[in-house]
Amino acid sequence: MFEVENLRSGYGEIGVLKELSFAVQDEIFAVLGSNGAGKTTLLKTLARLLPVQSGRLKLDGKDVTDAPAHTMPGAGVAYVPQEGNVFPDLSVMENLSIGGRTGHRPKAEKLEEVFTLFPRLKERTSQAAGSLSGGEGQMLAVGRALMQDPKVLLLDEPSAGLSPIFVDTLFSSIAETRKERGVTIVLAEQNAVKTLEIADRVMVLSLGEMHLLRNRSELTMKDITAAYHI
Ligand code: ATP
Repeated sequence: MFEVENLRSGYGEIGVLKELSFAVQDEIFAVLGSNGAGKTTLLKTLARLLPVQSGRLKLDGKDVTDAPAHTMPGAGVAYVPQEGNVFPDLSVMENLSIGGRTGHRPKAEKLEEVFTLFPRLKERTSQAAGSLSGGEGQMLAVGRALMQDPKVLLLDEPSAGLSPIFVDTLFSSIAETRKERGVTIVLAEQNAVKTLEIADRVMVLSLGEMHLLRNRSELTMKDITAAYHI
C-alpha cells in the first residue's frame, strides 16, 4: 500500500519531516507524538496536499511522489483533517451524498454501511451538519470519507476535543472499519492510551523524526513515554 522512503517535507523552505521511511499495509498504523511533532504534516503529505521536499512516496507500487491531491481519492486514499471536513450549511445526508461520488459501489450500499457504523447519523439525516455536536460532526467527517470507498483512510486526531464516551464510540467504529471492511488506517493521535487499544503498529514522531516503530503487542505505555521524551 503506502511506501514512504526517506521522506522530507514541510512548508516552503521549512523542513518538518526528516528522512522518514516506513510502509503501511492492511493495518491500523498509529502515528503518535506531541504538539508540533509533525503528525498533520505527515498525513497532509500522504494525501499529497503538501509537496515532498525529497524522498519517495509509493501507493500500491506506483510512484505518487508528485501526484496532485485531487487524484488521491480516485486512487483509494481518503483524508479526514482534524477539523473542517463537513459542509456546515448542508444536511447530514447531503454531506454523505457528496462524499459518495467516488468509488464503484452503489451509493445506497455505502450509506447503509455508514449508518450501521454510526447509527446516530441515521437519526439526523436532515439536520444541518453545522448544528451537530463535536462528536457527531467527527462521525460525519469519517462517514463522508468512507463514502469514497477508500482503501486507505488517513485520520488526523479524530479524538481531539471529544468527550470520553464519544472517543470510545469513534474508536470502536475505526476498529470495525478496519476489521469489517478491510480499510487500512493511518491514525494520527495524541490520545496514546485509546490508540494502543486499536492500533496494530505504532510510530512515535518527535520534531519530525521517528523515535519508535513497533508492533502493538511488543509495546508498553512506558516505551511510548520514553520515545516522546528522546
Ligand atoms: P498537533 O498535535 O499540535 O496538531 P502535529 O504533530 O500535527 O501537532 P504539525 O501540525 O505537523 O504537528 O506541525 C509540525 C511543525 O510544522 C510545527 O513546528 C508547526 O509549527 C509547523 N507548521 C505547521 N503548519 C505550518 C505552516 N503552514 N507553515 C510553517 N510551519 C508550519
